[in-house]
Amino acid sequence: MGNRVPFPIATGKRLGYHGVMPDTYHALALFSGGLDSILAMKTLQAQGLRILGLHFCSPFFGHPDRIEHWKRIYDLEIQSVDVHQEFIDLLLTGPRFGFGKVLNPCVDCKITMLTRAKSLLPIYGARFLVSGEVLGQRPMSQRRDTLNLISKQAEVRDILLRPLCAGHLDPTPMEREGLVDRSGLHAISGRGRKDQLRLAAEFGLPEIPTPAGGCLLTERESAKRFWPVLTRIPEPSPRDFALANIGRQFWNGRLWMVVGRNKADNEALEGMASTEDLLFKAVDVQGPLALGRGKPGISWTEEDVRQAADFVAGFSAKKRPPGQAAQIRLVRDARPHTLECPAQASGNAPTWMEFTWDEARQEKQDRFTQDQGKQSGVEQADRHPPQS
Ligand code: SF4
Repeated sequence: MGNRVPFPIATGKRLGYHGVMPDTYHALALFSGGLDSILAMKTLQAQGLRILGLHFCSPFFGHPDRIEHWKRIYDLEIQSVDVHQEFIDLLLTGPRFGFGKVLNPCVDCKITMLTRAKSLLPIYGARFLVSGEVLGQRPMSQRRDTLNLISKQAEVRDILLRPLCAGHLDPTPMEREGLVDRSGLHAISGRGRKDQLRLAAEFGLPEIPTPAGGCLLTERESAKRFWPVLTRIPEPSPRDFALANIGRQFWNGRLWMVVGRNKADNEALEGMASTEDLLFKAVDVQGPLALGRGKPGISWTEEDVRQAADFVAGFSAKKRPPGQAAQIRLVRDARPHTLECPAQASGNAPTWMEFTWDEARQEKQDRFTQDQGKQSGVEQADRHPPQS
């Protein structure tokens, strides 16, 4: 590793850790919790630089509950950054550089994160940004031209350092000025993990994160849940996307019902219900809890409510003697009622449907123009962990 290079900030003040004020940093790093982001931070930490990892959290990625664990086992400084609404807005308007194979807007995502990180630099007295990208690791989104596009669009070309693949890139101003020792950076490229695992061993990392996963937007199972929320719920909120991750999801036009699959789902739904929502549950036999989403802009008519109660009764139909009406408890506006649903009405009413990924994908194609991803020649065909 290279020699530590003094960093000329906080002059005239009492200096703390590695020559910077206790609450200032040399750089801010995009930190996903993936191996590349850990190694990028460790590489610069080994040069005596103080780096703060920014762990971005949205409804689709981020594990704020793991930050304390990461800090402890990797000896890193990490802080969460809330980008919930930014990412909902990004998906609502449609990413400028298109989606990947599923609902992942990777290029726009990285531009958004870097732009946000750049805005935080003065707050932490930091001079530059760090990202754990590896040239050629992803077939499209980590190509040289895409890396350049991301830096240009986020306006971070002169302040972004990619320590893992720096040897394949032109020296940054931080290297040229001697703030970072280029000889202590790496020249990793390609899809293998051999170099990263070697580095992890050199740094003595006690845990190696698994390579894939982490972003729900890359997963069809999650994306098919998110799509109708994006397209049918007025002003979807982080809570709406949290609800989309629970139980089974049924849609009837703009009406949305979440049905618990088990006790944990039922408890989660009960805990998340607001007074605007409608809660349905069989009281004559055991059955799931169902939450009908209510919010401004979504109106449930009496007929909608009746049909929904019949639908919910259908989940426990086999537990009733033939011909027996179901008793469904409805809580609406914090007031409980009991609805009687005739046996012949119970069942999976055809008006309530579950989205498949194919249906969501078709709607996605219809909604967003096909040439979005071609604006930059970028196609985001790859799947990778967040913020790496
Ligand atoms: S996979 Fe990574 S880059 Fe792509 S959208 Fe998800 S977090 Fe962003």
